[in-house]
Amino acid sequence: MSTHFRKLALIGIGLIGSSIALAARRQGLVDVISISTRRQETLDEARELGLGDIYTFDAAEAVRGADLVILCAPVGAYDALAKVIAPALEPGAIVSDVGSVKEHVVKVVGPHLPDNVHFIPGHPIAGTEHSGPSAGFPELFAGRWCVLTPGPEVPAAETEKLASFWAAMGSKVESMDAAHHDMVLAITSHIPHLVAYNIVGTVADLETATQSEVIKFSASGFRDFTRIAASDPVMWRDVFLTNRDAVLEMLGRFSEDLSVLQRAVRTGDGEALEAMFTRTRAIRRSIINAGQETAAPDFGRPHEAPPVPETNIVREHGGGDDA
Ligand code: NAP
Repeated sequence: MSTHFRKLALIGIGLIGSSIALAARRQGLVDVISISTRRQETLDEARELGLGDIYTFDAAEAVRGADLVILCAPVGAYDALAKVIAPALEPGAIVSDVGSVKEHVVKVVGPHLPDNVHFIPGHPIAGTEHSGPSAGFPELFAGRWCVLTPGPEVPAAETEKLASFWAAMGSKVESMDAAHHDMVLAITSHIPHLVAYNIVGTVADLETATQSEVIKFSASGFRDFTRIAASDPVMWRDVFLTNRDAVLEMLGRFSEDLSVLQRAVRTGDGEALEAMFTRTRAIRRSIINAGQETAAPDFGRPHEAPPVPETNIVREHGGGDDA
C-alpha cells in the first residue's frame, strides 16, 4: 500500500498540525505541504520553522490539488472550514482531521463535502499541554494510537492508505465507529481533563493563604493535575461542547462512584477503600502491560528527564496528555 501523497494540506498548524508536517516530511510521505491558518503570527511562525512549502490564509487555496487534506484546527472551527474548502477539493482526495471528538465532526463536516472525495475522520491519541506551531515534534505519534472512523461508503483501500500514512509516522492505527470512539475518549481523556480543570479551579478559589501553601507543597498528585489543566482552553471548550452526551453519560457514572467513595470515607469503611484502590492498581498494571506507559514513577513525564529541583521544573513536552 502506497503511503505517498503528492500534496498534503494542513488546515490549522498548532501542536498537532506541525507534528504531522515534521513527521510526514521526515518519513518522506509527501512531496508538498501547504499550510493554512487564521492569524498572521501563526503563519509567520510556521514559515520561520520551515514546516511547509506553501503558506496561505485561504484554506480553499491550500487544499487545491491536494490528495490529502487534514483539518488540524479546533473542532469548533470545522463547520466553517469545511464550507470554505469543499468547492476547491480535488476529486479523489482523502479529507481527514485530528479532532478529539468524532460524531460531531461527521455531522458538521460530512454534509459540506462533495461525493467524489473520501472523508475519513481521524484522531491521533497523542498530545501535550502545549499549543502552537513551535510545540510540534516529529516523534509525537510514535507508539501512540490513531483512531480512524470512516463511514461505510469509504472504500477500504482509501482507509488503508490513510492508515499507512499514520503508521509511517509511528502510530498504531485502529478503525472504529465514531460514537464508540466518543464514549471511550469521554472516560479515558475528557472526564480526566474535566476533573483536572475542576480540582485546579477549586484551588484557585481558595483563600490566598491556603492557596499559596497548596502551590508551595504541591506534591505529584496536584502538580500533575495542573499540567493537564494547562491544556488549551479553546480546544477543550470545543471538546465539551461537542461530546456532550458521552461526557454526561460517563460523568453520571463517575459521580455515582464518587458518592460511594465519599460514603466509605465518611463511615470509615477501610475495607471498601482498600478494595477500590486495589482494583485501580490493577488497571494501572494493565496499562503498563499494554505498552501505553512504563512503570517509571514519573506520571506523564519524559522518563529520561534528569533530576531537576521540583521548583525549577519546566518541561517542554509533558507527554501523555492525550486529547
Ligand atoms: P493548537 O496548537 O491550539 O493549534 C490550533 C491551530 O488551529 C492553530 O494553527 C490555529 O491558528 C488554528 N485555528 C484556530 N481557530 C481557527 C479557525 N477558526 N480557522 C482556522 N484555523 C484556526 O491546537 P492543537 O493542539 O494542535 O489541536 C488541534 C486539533 O487537534 C483540535 O481539533 C484538537 O481537538 C485535536 N487534538 C489535540 C490534541 C492535543 O493534545 N493538543 C491531541 C489530539 C487531537 P491561529 O493561531 O492562526 O488561530
